[in-house]
Amino acid sequence: MGKQLVIALGGNALGSTPEEQQKAVLVAAGHIVGLVRDGYKIVIVHGNGPQVGLIHLAFELARNEDQKVPVMPFAECAAMSQGYIGFHLQNALQNTFFSHGMTTHVSTAITQTIVDIEDPAFQHPTKPVGVFYSEAEAKRIAAAQGYQFIEDSGRGFRRVVPSPEPIDIKEKGTIRCLMENGDVVIACGGGGIPVYRKDGKLHGIDAVIDKDKGAARLAELIQADALIVLTAVSQVAINFGKPQQRWLGRITTAEAEQYSREGHFAPGSMLPKIEAAVHFVKAAPGHKAIITSLENAYKAVTEEEGTIITA
Ligand code: ADP
Ligand code: MG
Repeated sequence: MGKQLVIALGGNALGSTPEEQQKAVLVAAGHIVGLVRDGYKIVIVHGNGPQVGLIHLAFELARNEDQKVPVMPFAECAAMSQGYIGFHLQNALQNTFFSHGMTTHVSTAITQTIVDIEDPAFQHPTKPVGVFYSEAEAKRIAAAQGYQFIEDSGRGFRRVVPSPEPIDIKEKGTIRCLMENGDVVIACGGGGIPVYRKDGKLHGIDAVIDKDKGAARLAELIQADALIVLTAVSQVAINFGKPQQRWLGRITTAEAEQYSREGHFAPGSMLPKIEAAVHFVKAAPGHKAIITSLENAYKAVTEEEGTIITA
């Protein structure tokens, strides 16, 4: 496999409080250090759903107490989440490299992802963010604030915001430069801060970009050799959670699209990963996308584990 990897880190690599996150990123760093030592050049794209939701919620609660607290737009909350998660990841990777006697540098790039303001996603919010509520609480907040909620995989109700397609990544050149320089780069966190073009300028907008799709677009734009999506399962399955469940080892983009049409992948969790994988492999034929668990990061790259998606 080629040497330049974009690694998408799922929510299980982060935990849900600052203390949990600090511990979780150390574990994640431990699973990535072997690849860095082997000479792979790596960009890490992390999720931020729970974190950006909490940051947004904190400002809302504070504003309920004191109207002088400003409304904090989603783009700014995304930027804060990139700084917060970037700090922990950067720190954990640096400490891990130190303890292995490595001098590898780590940098975090605040990243803006350009979306199309005409994207139909703005009419149909789909992306769950923030904490889980009971149905009654969700209905109360929906009535009071005008937010939309959905039931999220049997775990409770969550607010949903628009999730437009990532078109371009403003900092792609900087990210590529840092990666070629040998830095491990943390970039495009949460899929990137959503911005749109108007009058020759970029403006933030209330939306969140799917981190797996952001990672796939970044991998395409910087011409990475592979996209590695690390999540909570070691392989993708068809008939997931059913008696006839079957784990997938190696599939083509055509098979992945067929299974997607047949509804094997849950929207909002596995489906965006499959779409991201298919997008990247189609944009970069001959290159691979692999979906596996954090623990299998190294074995994914050596193709011993995971679900490998090829042209
Ligand atoms: P992440 O935070 O890594 O993005 P998600 O919860 O969004 O994690 O998505 C991964 C989850 O998708 C898995 O843990 C699994 O429960 C679920 N999932 C849904 N459909 C499938 C499938 N067909 N095969 C494997 N996992 C699936
Ligand atoms: Mg997800």
